[in-house]
Amino acid sequence: MTTSTPNPFADLPINPSILRVPKSATLAINEKSKALQRAGKRIYRLGLGQSPFPVPELMVSRLQAYARAKDYMAVQGYLPLREAIAGMLRRTEGLDSQARRILVGPGSKELLFGLQMALDCELLLPAPSWVSYEPQARLLSRPCRWIETRPENGWKLTAGDLEQQARERDGKKRQLLILNSPNNPSGACYSETELQDLAEVARRHGILVLSDEIYSELHYRGEHRSMARYYPEGTLVSNGISKWAGAGGWRLGFLAFPEGLEALLKSMIVIASETFTSVSAPIQMASICAFEDSPAMLDYIHACRRVMAGIGQDFSRQLREAGLQVAEPEGGFYCLPDFTPMADRLQNYGIESVADLATRLLEETGVAGLPGSDFGLHDHLALRFAFVDFDGAELLQAAQEKPDLVIDLQLPQLQRLQQAADRICDWLHRL
Ligand code: PMP
Ligand code: GLU
Repeated sequence: MTTSTPNPFADLPINPSILRVPKSATLAINEKSKALQRAGKRIYRLGLGQSPFPVPELMVSRLQAYARAKDYMAVQGYLPLREAIAGMLRRTEGLDSQARRILVGPGSKELLFGLQMALDCELLLPAPSWVSYEPQARLLSRPCRWIETRPENGWKLTAGDLEQQARERDGKKRQLLILNSPNNPSGACYSETELQDLAEVARRHGILVLSDEIYSELHYRGEHRSMARYYPEGTLVSNGISKWAGAGGWRLGFLAFPEGLEALLKSMIVIASETFTSVSAPIQMASICAFEDSPAMLDYIHACRRVMAGIGQDFSRQLREAGLQVAEPEGGFYCLPDFTPMADRLQNYGIESVADLATRLLEETGVAGLPGSDFGLHDHLALRFAFVDFDGAELLQAAQEKPDLVIDLQLPQLQRLQQAADRICDWLHRL
């Protein structure tokens, strides 16, 4: 269209709920980092949290074998895949999972959106929580309530916090609480006792829980506990292959429903049938082996855990020694250092907000991180770093070949992460 022709669609009415929501912060920082790299800047990509590891060979060869599968699949998901998923939940968590209560979707993110669409609930989120839960509620014009957490509790929601909000609330809407462990952004994991205490409060107040367990197999000590163990009647479990099987771009996730929530499952199958139809056939068929109990899969998962544990420990230690408040992560790809102890020095340096902090750090050191405010954390100067900027294929192989390989940032494969840590620490010393 030339500049002289008026655009007949200039005033096209866009749904105002969507206009109020910017592009997802995780994807936006990834694009910004790539653009800066293309412009010749040295950028440390600690913004987007995606697995640095390759998809297990087992899954790749199955995908090649099934490449010709071309039919639409059952809306709820391919039955052998649902059976494998239910089998994994029974095996690893002792849950009473059945294939008929599993729904497969193109990523757990899409399923979480469908869940919020199907329910007419108030969303309850501990602050901080993963970036997309609250914008999804906004897209659907659903109310959302944040519950404050404290760094001394590892940014975890306590039973007391949940009880207090339940007593103070005036709304009549049923509540949906999203709990995430291992946690994005903090790297914290909920213990058995913490989950039991939360379950007791949720049960008493009839709060439905969505337990986002997308990092379950990346609990560094292999001690992930599902909330569904302690609150089976009121917990939906979401998980998928994006993180612990390195296959974010394959787009496959699932929701496991408890007995008694069949009406909700039915509504979500309707939503799926009118939106994505089914997940790609080859992807579903190739993903079955990710959920099965094979030595190859276990080997892969154990090596990924070892690598991430070593990095998380060394990276967070270096930041702590430079004066930041940061807990050692217990699972996943992230840590959440709090720069608040340096608030005065940062202010003298012209940094007034956590968004300023993320921007200035990126501009002056090349290290990309996400501000805590994207996770609903507004009263702390906290940044989330995803310590995934390294060649995962190479390091995974080295870790698998040498069971006694010490994983820390001194390894040549982790040079970029060591440089990122050095740059952050030098920047702090110069303030
Ligand atoms: N939950 C959390 C906590 C996440 O970090 C992510 C990011 N991948 C998701 C859910 C969505 O994962 P996916 O859609 O790839 O299954
Ligand atoms: N979950 C990843 C993160 O928190 C990115 C993928 C996404 O947001 O969909 O960085």
